[in-house]
Amino acid sequence: MNKGNIGVTSDNIFPVIKKFLYSDHEIFLRELISNAVDATQKLKTLSSVGEFKGELGDTRVRVSLDKNKKTLTVSDHGIGMTAEEEDQYINQIAISGAESFLDQYKDKAEAIIGHFGLGFYSSFMVANKVEIYTQSYKDEAKAVHWSCEGTPEFQMEDTIKAERGTDIVLHIDDEFTQYLEDATIEGLLKKYCKFLPVEIAFGKKKEWKDGKQVELDEENIINDINPAWMRKPADLKDEDYDKFYHELYPTQFDEPLFHIHLNVDYPFHLTGILYFPKIKNNMDIHRNKIQLYCNQVFVTDEVENIVPEYLTLLHGVIDSPDIPLNVSRSYLQSDNNVKKISGHITKKVADKLAELYKNDRADFEKKWDDIKLFIQFGMLSDEKFYERAIGFTLLKNLDGKYATLEEYKAQVKEAQTDKDGNLIMLYTNDPAAHYTFIERAKAKGYDVLLMDGELDVHAMSQFEQRSASVGDKSASADEQSASAGDKTGMLRFVRIDSDTIENIIRKEDVKKDEYSDEQKEGLRKAFETFLPKEDKLNYYVTPEAAAEDALPVFLTQNEFMRRMKEMSAHQQGMNFYGQMPDQYNLVLNTSHPIIKDLVAKMTSETVMEQPETKEGEEPKAAVEKTVYTLSGEDEKLKQLIDIAFLASGLLKGEGLAKFVNRSIELLG
Ligand code: ADP
Repeated sequence: MNKGNIGVTSDNIFPVIKKFLYSDHEIFLRELISNAVDATQKLKTLSSVGEFKGELGDTRVRVSLDKNKKTLTVSDHGIGMTAEEEDQYINQIAISGAESFLDQYKDKAEAIIGHFGLGFYSSFMVANKVEIYTQSYKDEAKAVHWSCEGTPEFQMEDTIKAERGTDIVLHIDDEFTQYLEDATIEGLLKKYCKFLPVEIAFGKKKEWKDGKQVELDEENIINDINPAWMRKPADLKDEDYDKFYHELYPTQFDEPLFHIHLNVDYPFHLTGILYFPKIKNNMDIHRNKIQLYCNQVFVTDEVENIVPEYLTLLHGVIDSPDIPLNVSRSYLQSDNNVKKISGHITKKVADKLAELYKNDRADFEKKWDDIKLFIQFGMLSDEKFYERAIGFTLLKNLDGKYATLEEYKAQVKEAQTDKDGNLIMLYTNDPAAHYTFIERAKAKGYDVLLMDGELDVHAMSQFEQRSASVGDKSASADEQSASAGDKTGMLRFVRIDSDTIENIIRKEDVKKDEYSDEQKEGLRKAFETFLPKEDKLNYYVTPEAAAEDALPVFLTQNEFMRRMKEMSAHQQGMNFYGQMPDQYNLVLNTSHPIIKDLVAKMTSETVMEQPETKEGEEPKAAVEKTVYTLSGEDEKLKQLIDIAFLASGLLKGEGLAKFVNRSIELLG
């Protein structure tokens, strides 16, 4: 019997291991199985190069529980260890520099465990005693039995072991009896080991028979040793990718829209498959996540720092031996490999989309509505992605026709350029509510886009800003967006209900109406009396000479204000706009016969008005003023206001009922 002390820094190591992130202590199983798989694969390699001449035989890794003895055992038929190797790999866990590292990262046990390959020792998180029975593949080697009770002392002695390989026996601590439950272990194996390259067996296969579960003779194999991402794309059909998708996400029933097979050798190793899922609603978005593997061992599905945020909406697998295991989030963020990986994935995704667009545009268009959210999110959060994606980003009009931004610009340029050279793109987010506005635009030969996506408002603002910088490359982006409003030759998106169509796309100078300011003031006052008074809603009455065939009274909503409000709903720091009341203009169309008639019915009187004087000023002489008033037309005004609200889809509830009743009375 050989007794000894583990490594130099072991006094420090054990408390650290014991304290290791409680939520993560389950990773001990992943570590032990990874070791078993490594040992098995090493033996296979030795065999393939002729260094191991014996029979490989059964190479399955087995996990078993003994509830009476309170043990969990992981057994493999891999290379095993000689006494010297065990001394070197297990006893001398102190790697040069460990001590200073420990000092530095006292609170970051996870970083230490990942960094120094303390995989095996993580078993002490859940076990009060660990034993190793191991028989090396080397002919002359004796089997060794090692044991340790979570103190720096260990024992090592020769033993007899019938089969080549290693059994690791964990005596599970009373605090952690959940690791003696079949269901817990099976769950963990499914989580971490589902795609390991060596078969992992746990118990026997079960089957439902006559309403009862019965054990079969066959072993219960946890994993698929040859997952799709490890195979060559040329060997896989679309069905195989879809099948693998369901293997990854057993509760997801929809087929993915398409996949991207990643395969990188340089400057880092990375394989994987990403899927664009079909998303039905917001709830779905984060239910299934990208899973990160390291040599087929599951690491995490919290990949926020590894793939760009907008790609976390995708599903699939990424496998890279170059992503450090177990390290802290902040460490990942600053890791250069991780940054490169993220950039590479962005490029691959963009390339794949570009290829789909180029090779089968009809199919791409069919998928557009489903993938739009990802692409817009990507474009908004990553300049590089914007540049790659702008070429295949589509706009959809009300006829359901798709066009890229450039194509669409060319399409509407002729008709929709205003007198100042601005190209105006019209859109609606609610075709039913904006019906009258849309009809008026169409009558003028204009086209209207459907922009009802969650990120459309942001995307349009981005298009505008990006187009603004095309003209003048010398100005900084800030200057350009600040001056965007008063520059000529700009691209602008304007919602169809934000003004009269004549004002949205101005072809000539504003038409003057024939009425005086006093007349218009009278008209404004008359209408104001009947406007609904609500919190958070402001109405401005504006008499204006719109087209004769436009409605007599209608509501518009300023594009800028409305858009800022909408955008602030998504963005922090824009609360100022979010808290502003909604503002509508009630346009009184002074070109319309009904309004002309109302003006004609106004009566006027001359009053003397005392001009205001400031303190200390001489009082000014009173001046004559003409005041117009409209009386006896109350029902008509109410009816006109209701029609305006109705045309904008805003007349509801009590207001709508009153309108209906009033209309009937008017008929009688
Ligand atoms: P790591 O796996 O990161 O190197 P571990 O502490 O888990 O760190 O293991 C240390 C070493 O012990 C391994 O590198 C390997 O040489 C040896 N070892 C562990 N488990 C086994 C096993 N089941 N069979 C053979 N060797 C093993």
